[in-house]
Amino acid sequence: MSTKKTLTPRLVKKLWFAFIILVIMMGISYIGITEYFANKHNQETTQRLNADVAQHVIDEKFQNVSPFLQDGSVNKSLFGDLMHDMMAVNRGIEVYLLDGNGAILYSVVLDPNDANATKSVAIAPIESFISDGGENFILGDDPRTPGEQKIFSAAPYSVDGRNGYVYIVLAGKKFQEVSSTLMRQYFAKLGLGAILLTTLFAAIIGLVAIWFLTKNLRLITNKVRQFSEGDLTARIENPDASDISIFANSFNEMADTITGNIDKMQSLDLLRRELIANVSHDLRTPLAILKGYIETLQMKRDSLSEEEKKEYLQITHDNVDKLSKLINQLFEYSKLEAEQVTPVKEPFSITELSHDLIAKFSVLAEPKEIVLKLENPKENNLVYADLSLVERALQNLIENAIKYTKPKGKVTLSLLKKGDEIEIKISDTGTGIPLSEQPFIFDRYKQVDESAKKRGSGLGLAIVKKIMELHDTTITVLSKPKEGSSFIFNLPTYKS
Ligand code: ADP
Repeated sequence: MSTKKTLTPRLVKKLWFAFIILVIMMGISYIGITEYFANKHNQETTQRLNADVAQHVIDEKFQNVSPFLQDGSVNKSLFGDLMHDMMAVNRGIEVYLLDGNGAILYSVVLDPNDANATKSVAIAPIESFISDGGENFILGDDPRTPGEQKIFSAAPYSVDGRNGYVYIVLAGKKFQEVSSTLMRQYFAKLGLGAILLTTLFAAIIGLVAIWFLTKNLRLITNKVRQFSEGDLTARIENPDASDISIFANSFNEMADTITGNIDKMQSLDLLRRELIANVSHDLRTPLAILKGYIETLQMKRDSLSEEEKKEYLQITHDNVDKLSKLINQLFEYSKLEAEQVTPVKEPFSITELSHDLIAKFSVLAEPKEIVLKLENPKENNLVYADLSLVERALQNLIENAIKYTKPKGKVTLSLLKKGDEIEIKISDTGTGIPLSEQPFIFDRYKQVDESAKKRGSGLGLAIVKKIMELHDTTITVLSKPKEGSSFIFNLPTYKS
C-alpha cells in the first residue's frame, strides 16, 4: 500500500538531508580551524626563527657606517642598499627605520611622495617584543597594509645621539601573497579530501544509523497497515522498548479502544436482536390469546352464557393490560438503552418517597393480605439522585415483591444509613429465585436460556439495572427459593 512507499523514504530523505548539512558544516569548520592554527603555527615559527634579524642588522651594519648623515637626515643610499640586499635574500620581509616614537624615518617599500602612506607604527608591541627577547608570539602594525597586524622583528639602536628601532615586518605583503596562494591550494586539497572522506564515513554510518533509527518506525508502520487491512489483533510488541514508545503505546491503546468499541457494538447489536426476537415472542402469546377469545366471542355470541362472556372479556382485558404494560416497558427500556435518558440529580427525601410508595402499593398488597411496611421510617434521609428514575426502580421492585409473594406474606422496604450512602433494601417472603437463574434476572433478554424466559415476560428488572447504571451504582439480589428474596442498592446521601 502507499503508506509503505511514502512514509519511510520521506523520513529517510529528511535524515539524509540533515546528515549532509552536518557533514558540510563539519567540513567547513574543520578547514577554518585548521587554517587558523596552521597559519598561527607558521607565523610563530617564522617569528621565533627570525627574532634576531633586526638585531643582526644593527650589529653588522650600524657599527661600521652610521645610518644618519652629518645633517641628521637618513643615509638613504646606505640604508636603501641594505634593505634591498636583505629583501633580495628574503622576499618576505620589509625593513623600516623608526625613530624612538615609532615614526617611520625611512623604508624602500613605502613611496615617500604618497601623502596617504603610513607615517608611524605602534610602539607598544615593539617594546614588548624587545623586553622579552622575541620569545613570545606578538603582532605589530604593518605599514603597507594599515589596520593589519603582522609578525615582526625589532631591535633598538642608539647612534649619533639618536635613538630608534630597526623594524622588520617578517611576513610582509609578498610573503602574504605567496603564503595565501599556497594555503588556498593546500586547503582546497585538504578540504576536498576531508569532505570526501567524511562524506564516505558519514554515508556508511548514516545508512546504518538510519536503518536502525527507522527500524521501529517500519515495525510500527507494518502493524498499522496490518490493522488497517482488517487484522484487529495487530499490536506492537513490547511498545516500551520502542524508540518511539509514546507512538507505539498510543497505537496499541487506540487499537484496544477500537476493538473494544467494535466488541461493544457487536454485543449491543446482538442484545438488540435478542430483545426484538424475545419481545416479539412475548407479544405474540397475549395477542394469540386475544385473537382466540375475540373470535370465540364473535362466532359463538349466541351460544355462550353471560357468565362465559364475562369471563372471556376479562381474559381479553387482562391480556390487553399485559400487552400495553410490555409495550410501555419496551419503550422505556429502549430509551434507557439508547442512552436517551440523562438523570437529573437533585436532593430529595428517600424516606418520604418510600412512605408514598408503601401507601400506593398497599392497594395491591391488600387483596393478597401481604404486610407491606417501611423499616427505619423515623430518620429523614436525603439522597442525591434522579427522583423519578429512583421512583420507577422502586416501583418495579415492590411490584415484583408483591407479585412473587404468596398471600399472607411480607414485603419490607428498609432504609439504612451506611457512611455517605443509604442502603435501600426490598425484601419479601416470596417464591425466591433459583441460584441458577439469579445471574440472568436483570438481563433476561440477553439470555437465550429457555428456563429463564419461562417465568416472566416483563422488562422490569432490566429497567432497574439501567437506572442503577445511570446512578453509577449496582443492584444485588440475595434469594433463597421458597424463603424469599432481597434486592439491595445504595444511593449517595445529600450533604448540604
Ligand atoms: P417480570 O416480573 O415481568 O417477569 P422482571 O424483569 O421484573 O420481569 O423480573 C424478571 C424475573 O426475575 C421474573 O420473571 C422472576 O422470575 C424474577 N423475579 C424478580 N423479582 C422477584 C422476586 N421478588 N421474587 C422472586 N422472583 C423474582
